[in-house]
Amino acid sequence: MRKPFIAANWKMNKTISETQEFIYNFIPELKDTSDVDIVLAPPFTSLRISAEKLKDTNVTLAAQNVFYEEKGAYTGEVSPLMLIDVGCKYAIIGHSERRQYFNETDEIVNKKIKAAKKAGLGIIFCIGESLKEREAGKTFDVLQREIEKGLNGIDSDNIIIAYEPIWAIGTGKTATPEQAQEAHAYIRERLNILYGNKADDFCIIYGGSVTPENVDYLMACKDVDGALVGGASLKVDSFMRIVKFRKES
Ligand code: PEP
Repeated sequence: MRKPFIAANWKMNKTISETQEFIYNFIPELKDTSDVDIVLAPPFTSLRISAEKLKDTNVTLAAQNVFYEEKGAYTGEVSPLMLIDVGCKYAIIGHSERRQYFNETDEIVNKKIKAAKKAGLGIIFCIGESLKEREAGKTFDVLQREIEKGLNGIDSDNIIIAYEPIWAIGTGKTATPEQAQEAHAYIRERLNILYGNKADDFCIIYGGSVTPENVDYLMACKDVDGALVGGASLKVDSFMRIVKFRKES
């Protein structure tokens, strides 16, 4: 039985005081949520205060990015060990915004996953096709390539796969439950091939304009085990409604 996994990706939003305000209102809402893994990925600058304020709760922390070297002359980068040190359990790797704006290739993504795992971080590994790729019938090819290259030489422990169709991220256009289920089932099939029938253990979460209005339908899909939430995670009310999704709607 896979435990639902709901993660907030704040991207480049919220100062330290805004983070504190969110957490102040968030903690009282966490009652009765122990049946869900809840993860918060604030910007680097808010990780420390988040770790401090969330230490006695069931919420764990993720970084939105990580570098693959352990230390050295890499101005502006943050190592896996630094993330562990500040209290992170996970790192988001391969997000389409990193691939798109910062030229992260499958090879770089693979190096980051290796380094982060070596340091003991769990991985939220993002994959997904662009609109052009979907319209050209290439969705499965893209997913296969990203999985095979991204996870090359990597064992299956502590990896969450986030299926995030690029055309659905921040656009208000969510995948239909059928589209999400089809992609998730395909991803599980590829993971079975890669890891010899271990795919049932993988949490495969959906990301792309998840809101309180569509979460119940998405979570009702057999192979959708959770959500990676951008815009709707910035407000406590909408994020908590997503955390408290209703399976039977
Ligand atoms: C994301 O950034 O991973 C994301 C899914 O964003 P949004 O929910 O805003 O589409």
